[in-house]
Amino acid sequence: TFITVEGPDGAGKTTQLQLMAEGLKRQGYQVVMTREPGGTRIGNEIRSLILNPDFTEMDEMTEILLYAASRAQHVNELIRPSLTAGTVVLCDRFVDASIAYQGYGLGYSIEQIRNVNQQATGGLTPDRTYLFDLTVMDSKRRMIERGALDRIEQRDDAFRERVYHGFLSLAASEPERIRLIDANQSIEAVQSLLLEDVLAYLKK
Ligand code: C5P
Ligand code: MG
Repeated sequence: TFITVEGPDGAGKTTQLQLMAEGLKRQGYQVVMTREPGGTRIGNEIRSLILNPDFTEMDEMTEILLYAASRAQHVNELIRPSLTAGTVVLCDRFVDASIAYQGYGLGYSIEQIRNVNQQATGGLTPDRTYLFDLTVMDSKRRMIERGALDRIEQRDDAFRERVYHGFLSLAASEPERIRLIDANQSIEAVQSLLLEDVLAYLKK
């Protein structure tokens, strides 16, 4: 089973995914937790290329293809083999993030982003996606509290608004797969919602 979390920066995705991994392991599930961009040795190299704030000259298409390249490596090296072995894969961001950030955010057609990623993933789609809903203002505040911003986080509020709108559009178009989570609740409250839903899904 392939589970992903998505949403704006600072929404608590990573914290919740870690807690979910622990919760599922306690229930006896075999779990792998991973993230994008990254998740593999090569993916992590690509991640540092994409996020390095020094690379102000990075072309947008280069960025799109680097995310897809990291994803191809990730799917083929880690995600598919884990799924085949019956492991629950918990992934911090996946294709939906590219549709939101590179599609809606940068203004590329959704069709184009989907096509590139179809090539990268061979069509692999998450079984369940939790979209953490957090406003642009709250996201920005939490990002700044966390410290140094990466190259993408340095983009302006208009970019962040487009990304946010993109995520909500995705959720509206695929309500079966994408579950909206209000990120403005306590860590414990969010976690109990998530764990309950994911366990119900796994027992189906
Ligand atoms: O989730 P995480 O903060 O590790 O993501 C790293 C950065 O990459 C963030 O600034 C995020 O906004 C950006 N990102 C992106 N497009 C993706 C995935 C992540 O712009 N497809
Ligand atoms: Mg971030």
